[in-house]
Amino acid sequence: MVTNDGLWDWDRIGSSLPRIALDQIASVPPPRAGLGGDFPVWRWKDKRVFTTRSAYAFLALDPGTHYPAVWKSIWKLIVPQRVRVFVWVTLHERLLTNAERVRRHFANSDLCGICGGAKEDLEHVLRSCAIAKGLWLRLIPSGARVSFFSLTFKEWFCKNLFDRTFVTTDDEWPRRFAIMCWLLWKRRCRLLLEEDVGVLDDVLVTGNCLLMQTKDAFTMLVGSNARNAVARTWCRPQPSRDMNKVADSLAQRGRELGAGSSAFYLPPEGTTALVIQEQGASGAVPGMHARGAPVISGAAVGIG
Ligand SMILES: [Zn+2]
Repeated sequence: MVTNDGLWDWDRIGSSLPRIALDQIASVPPPRAGLGGDFPVWRWKDKRVFTTRSAYAFLALDPGTHYPAVWKSIWKLIVPQRVRVFVWVTLHERLLTNAERVRRHFANSDLCGICGGAKEDLEHVLRSCAIAKGLWLRLIPSGARVSFFSLTFKEWFCKNLFDRTFVTTDDEWPRRFAIMCWLLWKRRCRLLLEEDVGVLDDVLVTGNCLLMQTKDAFTMLVGSNARNAVARTWCRPQPSRDMNKVADSLAQRGRELGAGSSAFYLPPEGTTALVIQEQGASGAVPGMHARGAPVISGAAVGIG
């Protein structure tokens, strides 16, 4: 299976295996005498050593186990809120693909409504369907494609959302990935409604625009420190204690009067003492409210 030059002999291998197997073989270096023999490793741990815990985590297929902060991280992604919600629903496997609709007895066929060639589950609609695959082939470097297209769905989704394994040169990759997945799903829904969705390039252009707009909005928010500015300028109004006491005193005085309106050109008896008492406690200017506003001088109190 190896040529004299030490390369895979594709003439012999290529005729007997399917394309996906050939891609996997291509990602592995051909055997060489100096490399030693093959030995098994455990792929679910970074050090390639088997542990029961990692095996359990793999069987449970809980994204929270593989990526402890995954659920919190979704809400920290700098993308529009509707994209975050989409990511959340997708990771919970609640997106209404045809496979999910059949599972819930909403539909009879789980075939993809776009290509008609496979069951439409999350993996198909977001990664393997012709449109999705075309998009990823435009974005993923050739050296990372075999791994990108061979991971299980949850691994693939989480890995792209929370690190840049496949596209190391793109700082925006997790955000770009989330937005592109959302656009793919949106496009799928519009296609099924027979709307004009344009060409694949439109997804790329729309995705990049959305990415920039979100980034600009976030930068503006952080730059102006708008949240903190609002928090600093708005204070919960706190009526002072003396203000409340004066209001109570006036209300009590009002109850003692008969019907009709009464005008006071000086603070009513009882209220004066209260104001003086409060002024003494707070050190405010006589005739002024403890916070600096006139209290009663010249005030007219109307009682119906
Ligand atoms: Zn399809």
